[in-house]
Amino acid sequence: MKPSEPAGDERPLYVGQLNTPEWSEIRAEFDGIFDRRFYTNHGPLVAAFERELAERLGVRHAIGMTNGTVALMVAAKAAGLAGKVVVPAFTFPATVQAMTFAGLTPVFCDVDPETHNIDAATVEAAMEAGVAAIAGVHLWGRLCPVDELRKLADREGAMLLFDAAHAFDCSVGDRVAGGLGVFEIFSFHATKVLNCAEGGCVTTNDDALADAIRTARNFHEQQTFTSVPLRINAKMSEAQAAMGLVSLRNIDRWKAANGNRYGRYRDRLSTIDGIRFIDHADGMESNHQYVVIEVDSGFPIDRTELMRHLQDHGVIARRYFYPGMHKATPYNATSWSLPVTDGLCERVLQLPSGDMISDEDIDRVCALIESAG
Ligand SMILES: *Cc1c(COP(=O)(O)O)cnc(C)c1O
Repeated sequence: MKPSEPAGDERPLYVGQLNTPEWSEIRAEFDGIFDRRFYTNHGPLVAAFERELAERLGVRHAIGMTNGTVALMVAAKAAGLAGKVVVPAFTFPATVQAMTFAGLTPVFCDVDPETHNIDAATVEAAMEAGVAAIAGVHLWGRLCPVDELRKLADREGAMLLFDAAHAFDCSVGDRVAGGLGVFEIFSFHATKVLNCAEGGCVTTNDDALADAIRTARNFHEQQTFTSVPLRINAKMSEAQAAMGLVSLRNIDRWKAANGNRYGRYRDRLSTIDGIRFIDHADGMESNHQYVVIEVDSGFPIDRTELMRHLQDHGVIARRYFYPGMHKATPYNATSWSLPVTDGLCERVLQLPSGDMISDEDIDRVCALIESAG
């Protein structure tokens, strides 16, 4: 459905960032592409974007990809992973689907009810023979407990990797998303904080793995001749990189604006009985891409009723994630016991944020929640 034109209070408010640079900035980069007639195949803009990403995230390699899903799929394949991968069911479908496409078998683990992230205890409870990797998701931009996960992964002989699609430019002290797993992936989909329309990257500090990933993403033998199990076209285009480069110039401004929106929501929602505002304030630097609440039994109506109430008033709040991946095809052929995930799938609601959402919009959303029930 195409969003309708803004019309006072009726303008629908969507989840999703839609952070868009000025057209003049994009056009300047696009003019260069058309002047050079170099549209894809590792052009100068992709090279520049990869350099800037690596510098920003403090990693040796950032490898541009056509999207985040394919980035995860190709990196898992290039890393030579085979067998099982422990992964949370409380995540965006792409995390799990990419693993399956890479030939891995997901083994679902539960998450911590406070942080919504995996930790050593939930992963350990899911461990079984044949696990080759542990795939964490830095959910809502909050970093997974990396040290305890790395210890567990080392002990089990499993590779630790992260889906960092939510965590671009998120950190705790000197821990920065992107350099914490053997590899990590990011998404630059239009609804993410950094917008390439479609796009993604893999980050790693492992030179040999970076070489393998660069080879695997390309049909053609080009930069290196590393031997990889399989190749596929996963390249980022120059148009995507152009969007990425200008988006990077705006990222600090977008993060700051997100932080303001997040604070405004938090101030108003954290005093409502039965609403738990998911706070990331514990010493972390966040991109505040997501504004997440849990609707508990102390609230007059349940989460799905609240979602319908908001949607009836043009606030397109979303159930992230519903159902959990353990309840989705083809993974529901097995019955999984994930009580925390099951609870979150019934309680979590995602509120509109990003560049299209003004202070007045936030006040409107909060007033609707306050008056619900
Ligand atoms: C968006 C997202 C992806 C997939 O990214 P695409 O670029 O849309 O393919 C993967 N994992 C998570 C957690 C995401 O939010």
